[in-house]
Parts: sequence; C-alpha cells; structure tokens
Amino acid sequence: MTSKYKRILLKFSGEALQGKRSYNIDPDVVRQVAEEIKQVHETGVQVAVVIGGGNIMRGASAAALGIDRVTGDAMGMLATVINALALQNALEHLKIPTRVQSAIEMRQIAEPFIIRRAVRHLNRKRVVIFAGGTGNPYFSTDTAAALRANEIGAEVIIKATKVDGVYDSDPEKNSNAKKYESLSHQEVLEKGLGVMDSTAASLCRDNNVPIIVLSLDETGSILKAVRGEKVGTIVKGD
Ligand code: UDP
Repeated sequence: MTSKYKRILLKFSGEALQGKRSYNIDPDVVRQVAEEIKQVHETGVQVAVVIGGGNIMRGASAAALGIDRVTGDAMGMLATVINALALQNALEHLKIPTRVQSAIEMRQIAEPFIIRRAVRHLNRKRVVIFAGGTGNPYFSTDTAAALRANEIGAEVIIKATKVDGVYDSDPEKNSNAKKYESLSHQEVLEKGLGVMDSTAASLCRDNNVPIIVLSLDETGSILKAVRGEKVGTIVKGD
C-alpha cells in the first residue's frame, strides 16, 4: 500500500464524530474515524488532523443563546479540544502514536501548538491532531486546516464531510444538483459554493494547496484519495 503523498492534513467536522446522535460524540463513530486514519497511516504517509467542534458548540449557535460572539467562539474552540481528545483516545486504542497540540494552551491535557515540534512528531510517524482551531475568534476550523496545512507543508487537505464531493447546488434539496470532478479555488469563491468558507478557500488558493472533498460515509474513501485514486471532488489551482 503506497501513498501518493508524503504529508497530508485531514479535516473532520465535529459532526463527523456525532453519527446519528443528535448531540455530542458517538464512540462507535469515533472508532470508525480512527480506523480510517489507521489505514491511511499504514501507507506510510505523515498524517495531521484538524477537527471541528460543531457537534458541541459553534459561535453562531452561542450567539443565538445571547452569548457574545467572541465568548461563543472561545466555547467553540474548546469544543474542538474535547473532540481532539476523543479522537486521540480512539487512535491510541488502535496503537497509533498520537499527539494533540492545542492553539489555546492547556498543558495538562495537550501540548501547546509549536510548529517545529509538530513537524518532528510527523517525521516520527505520530499522528498530530491540531485542536483549538486557529486560537482566534471569527475564524473556522476549515481556516485552521488551511493555515496548519500551509505551516506544516502538507501537500493536500482532505476534507471528509457528509457529502461525497462539491455540487453546484445542495444535493439534499435539489435532485438535479451536479457534482464537480474538479474545480479551482477561484470557482469555489466566485460561485459561492458552500464547501468551505471564503477565508479558508482563499488561503488555499493563494498558497496553492489542493483540497479533496469526499464523504466519510464511504468506507475507505480517504485511503483511496491518499493512493491517488479518483474520489470526491478535487479543488486545485487552474
Ligand atoms: N472557532 C473559532 N476560531 C477558530 C476555529 C473555530 O472561533 O479558529 C469556533 C467557532 O465558533 C466555530 C467553532 O469554534 O463555530 C467550531 O468550529 P467549526 O464551526 O469550524 O467546526 P465544524 O463545523 O468543523 O464542526
């Protein structure tokens, strides 16, 4: 089993850990995600992960409860740490050496984010989970994924979602929605496609980082992408 890449960044939304539950974390689903990461890790590729927090808290949902945006975003970033610890635990049960690095310091439970240290872990074949988003309010974990991918020199971001690629309209609402095989970052921005927010898309465009969008529900799809097989949609430079 060989990988097309030397170093990748996997982005999972918080909802990826939620499964069919309406809230929080489903341990069976976390185990499945960890299994997918294990398969990919076994190809020899260096794996970094950014995890979201939307299954627990989002700044926008907090705002709806009357909580200030900056505080709500801090709550959202803490939610990503909870998810990161759940995923770390599941990976360790599969005997995959793993480190969590948090953008917000909490040394008792996670290393602080230190780029050179993260790269050293990756070189030693440890999976590095970046928690705490960017550490700043008004950003998303997609932007954190774009930022960390650039910082560690990842060759690709693989964004595992509930949809099997990028469509020209919402496939859940429009049965005629057309799936793209590939498109450019600029097209994502111009067409306002909801695959990721504009900050993340433009950061990837400006630094020429490709993004493969695929479905987490299709078992083995991340492994296929890592081997260079066609899966999902690829967003890349013109
Ligand atoms: N967040 C933030 N700064 C960041 C990353 C995340 O303030 O750099 C907050 C924001 O409130 C966001 C929440 O953390 O709504 C959870 O992240 P996100 O919505 O990206 O998670 P996902 O949708 O991927 O589960």
